[in-house]
Amino acid sequence: MEPSVKVDRISVKKDRISVLVRLSAHAPRTTWPCLVQEAELAFPGLLVHACVNDVGPMFGDVAACTSVPHMLEHLVIHLQAVHPQTPAHVTLAGTTEWLDEAQGLARVEVNYADDLVALGALQEALAFLNERMVDCV
Ligand SMILES: [Zn+2]
Repeated sequence: MEPSVKVDRISVKKDRISVLVRLSAHAPRTTWPCLVQEAELAFPGLLVHACVNDVGPMFGDVAACTSVPHMLEHLVIHLQAVHPQTPAHVTLAGTTEWLDEAQGLARVEVNYADDLVALGALQEALAFLNERMVDCV
């Protein structure tokens, strides 16, 4: 079966990775409560990361009704933040924007301390979403 979320292109920039994300035609564009519960269970602390949104200061303020690429962004930030190679003083942040929501095309950018850690986090985040978006609809 075609994965729900895949990467069309990754650019490793000097300070961040820029990822062109594509959702499959059948994949939901936005998150739902069950997916958020699964994510919080798998990645404790995910919902209290800082997030610029219209509702509140944390990702948890919008997590249950935001774009799937925005959740991917926060998973990548979280997985880097908890990685032992990431220094405690590093501030990780990202942005997500739809390029074409109907086509499921979005750009996610996240900064990093170590590019290989960031790419590993991206792989793990994609695996999580692709597993859960099948199980938990
Ligand atoms: Zn956010």
